[in-house]
Amino acid sequence: ARLANQIAAGEVVERPSSVVKEIVENSLDSGATSIEIDIEKGGHKRILIRDNGSGIPHDELALALSRHATSKIAKLDDLDTICSLGFRGEALASISSVARLSLSSKPKDQAQAWQAHCEGRDMQVQVNPVAHPDGTSVDVVDLFFNTPARRKFLKTEKTEFTHIDEVVRRIALSRFDVSFSLKHNGKLLRKYPAVKAQNSELKRLNTICGKEFSEQSIELNSQFQTFELKGWLAQPGQSKTQGEFQYFYVNGRMMRDKLINHAVRQAFEGLMGADFYPAYVLYLTLEPNQVDVNVHPAKHEVRFHQARLVHDFIFRALTDSLNQYCQ
Ligand code: ADP
Ligand code: MG
Repeated sequence: ARLANQIAAGEVVERPSSVVKEIVENSLDSGATSIEIDIEKGGHKRILIRDNGSGIPHDELALALSRHATSKIAKLDDLDTICSLGFRGEALASISSVARLSLSSKPKDQAQAWQAHCEGRDMQVQVNPVAHPDGTSVDVVDLFFNTPARRKFLKTEKTEFTHIDEVVRRIALSRFDVSFSLKHNGKLLRKYPAVKAQNSELKRLNTICGKEFSEQSIELNSQFQTFELKGWLAQPGQSKTQGEFQYFYVNGRMMRDKLINHAVRQAFEGLMGADFYPAYVLYLTLEPNQVDVNVHPAKHEVRFHQARLVHDFIFRALTDSLNQYCQ
């Protein structure tokens, strides 16, 4: 089974940033309101993530490290209604098969905290008592220590950290209500405090996307049937470097999707010409049964059941907003 995990790890655990993404998503699924991310040497050496979420009961700790044991998909139909970020039950199993992993946790109503530890694919999971506050810590040390071929593909510390930084930015833009901090080699580099009021979302937007984008963006808020599109667009004429901020979320997940890109691009091009490079942070919400998020292992792509309708809704919502602004 551990070998299967190692193979699956190839899909889920591409590099340190994918480890960070999976672990932080678990923290969000657990209801955490505060997530601390501590990275050493670009994540090659260590990725330590602490949350204040629901915690994992003692008798489920070892299980959480075994593949699919925890899968939230009881039957295929459930795929239609998945709301949590994780649902394959393979991230922790995959990560633990290619690293030294400690999972420490304490649910509020459990007096003692416990830690499950596991190294690579041949090791038994060991569970021991540990001191830990309410919530969960995942400590991933020596990523790819037992898969030299994979380790060879790791880039420099700096490059891997840049990827982690980007993953944390994307997630921070999806959950304004959760506070995040990011350290590298002991230095606190990012702090995104939880946003209490709706109108202070701009503060985090400012921290992440810069002053130019946050102060001059066009706010968008459109509805059609059960679809909703909210967020911010760069004002036409902003400097081209703004184009790096292209964040599109579907039901809270960041997506890179052809259909979405096409709709967004068409809307911008229709008004601004082909060489305008749009910047945007947009949130599309629709009923869970309208999307299938299980298309890509890294979960970047979606399949919309009413693709044409969604495409045209996005196009029209953006075109209307841009038109209003241009008048
Ligand atoms: P998935 O998220 O797809 O269910 P994972 O391998 O990522 O699978 O996680 C396995 C299980 O471990 C989760 O379903 C959850 O029950 C538990 N778990 C993992 N991380 C946390 C956490 N930070 N807080 C609470 N439970 C967690
Ligand atoms: Mg998960």
